[in-house]
Amino acid sequence: MNYDVIIVGAGPGGIFACYELIKSNPTLKVAVFETGHSLEKRSCPIDGEKIKSCINCKTCSIMSGFGGAGAFSDGKYNITNDFGGTLHEHIGKKKAIELMTYVDQLNMQYGGEGTKMYSTAGTRLRKICLQNKLNLLDAQVRHLGTDKNYVVLQNFYNFLKDKVDFYFETSVTDIQADNGNYKVITKDNEYICDKCIISVGRSGSSWMEKLCKKLRIATKSNRVDIGVRVELPAEIFSELTDELYESKIVYRTEKFEDAVRTFCMNPNGIVVNENTNGIVTVNGHSYEDNALKTKNTNFALLVSKHFSEPFKDSNGYAESVAKLSNMIGGGVIIQRFGDLIRGRRSTEKRIEECTTTPTLSATPGDLSLVLPKRILDGIIEMIYALDKVAPGTANDDTLLYGVEVKFYNMEVMIDENLETKLKGLYVIGDGSGVTHSLSHASASGVFVARKILEEK
Ligand SMILES: Cc1cc2nc3c(=O)[nH]c(=O)nc-3n(C[C@H](O)[C@H](O)[C@H](O)COP(=O)(O)OP(=O)(O)OC[C@H]3O[C@@H](n4cnc5c(N)ncnc54)[C@H](O)[C@@H]3O)c2cc1C
Repeated sequence: MNYDVIIVGAGPGGIFACYELIKSNPTLKVAVFETGHSLEKRSCPIDGEKIKSCINCKTCSIMSGFGGAGAFSDGKYNITNDFGGTLHEHIGKKKAIELMTYVDQLNMQYGGEGTKMYSTAGTRLRKICLQNKLNLLDAQVRHLGTDKNYVVLQNFYNFLKDKVDFYFETSVTDIQADNGNYKVITKDNEYICDKCIISVGRSGSSWMEKLCKKLRIATKSNRVDIGVRVELPAEIFSELTDELYESKIVYRTEKFEDAVRTFCMNPNGIVVNENTNGIVTVNGHSYEDNALKTKNTNFALLVSKHFSEPFKDSNGYAESVAKLSNMIGGGVIIQRFGDLIRGRRSTEKRIEECTTTPTLSATPGDLSLVLPKRILDGIIEMIYALDKVAPGTANDDTLLYGVEVKFYNMEVMIDENLETKLKGLYVIGDGSGVTHSLSHASASGVFVARKILEEK
């Protein structure tokens, strides 16, 4: 089979690339290959009753399938160059913001209308944060919510399904350069295309690494973020979340001068398991629908680590830490902040008596046996710093889940067109190591589609 363009991966990067290509030139022959299921078949078996924790499905429906890792996410599209990736380093700050804004407009057009856009512009909270050694980063954030995000994806799929060949449950096993074209190989078939866009996200990281080695495309190691997910009554953080929804706050610790930051804040949300290559970590999201909201807010507190010489494997380091929590807890560990600072493990009884009701069933335990001291000290310091802007954060009954890890793919050497040294082979989204978010990944897809359209 011959195609003009083949896209590997149907996450936000792949979907937006596909949409932009087809919308601008409906005569293009485009195929999308995706390891996971189509949207309606995606379902995580954890129901909190019969199946309480991850059972390592063959393909993880949280991470894979139409919509990618973003499908069941909170759908927070941050429009900013301050975090979420370094796309602007390749395409320029102005272009990056322009494309993220365009993605937002499309999301509104495809079912997201009516959702709220929050902004840090002119907020008095910045001053309060600064007075307490906390730095509030600038951003606009559109919160689609897990439910609306799903509707938007459904609408995109309905628009694309008759115009594009989708191959679900079909992993691309290899890509070969073939006389100016590319041969895209799956278990059962081979396909030829003029241009190939690789958008395999976090779950495709090992495959991407192998492919780069084989095609001699240079890569460099990236950082990893390790920490915990904090869960507390929503009232405690309401001043911040009511105005900003998500606040990205950075704190520099007194002890080690390490930067600890908040990440992925979910007002009235739920804490969930995440499975990356068989390692169970923690994440969170929240629904736009009031009926699905909980009484708690959750967010991550993360510390970045980047190893270079002689040990380069930042992800491997974090995997070992996460494996330790899986070994001790059989999955994610939960601990009351009060137990952590008293140097004792949480027990079923202490969690039951806790005034904050956990939204994820996790194993009560002791995070100090899992997280390296330097990281844990930084997190504890930041909880006390946050307590000054959101009193109650350092309450004994604040819950900590561990470990949360943000793995970043190694960075693939791509140029200002997001093209590898092989002409016509593009790498976008989180799989490139350049983006780490829905908005940056989506924007990178639109950017590459437009580059291809210019050449067609
Ligand atoms: C629970 C959760 C909540 C999140 N919440 C947010 C949020 O609120 N805001 C935010 O900005 N970000 C959030 N993120 C991160 C966000 O989802 C990612 O940054 C984004 O999805 C990256 O898009 P992508 O297209 O680059 O990759 P992905 O979304 O990871 O998509 C890549 C796709 O490629 C497929 N694939 C991989 N290898 C192959 C192969 N060899 N052949 C075929 N297909 C392959 C995968 O199955 C996957 O579907 C969240 C992530 C998770 C897991």
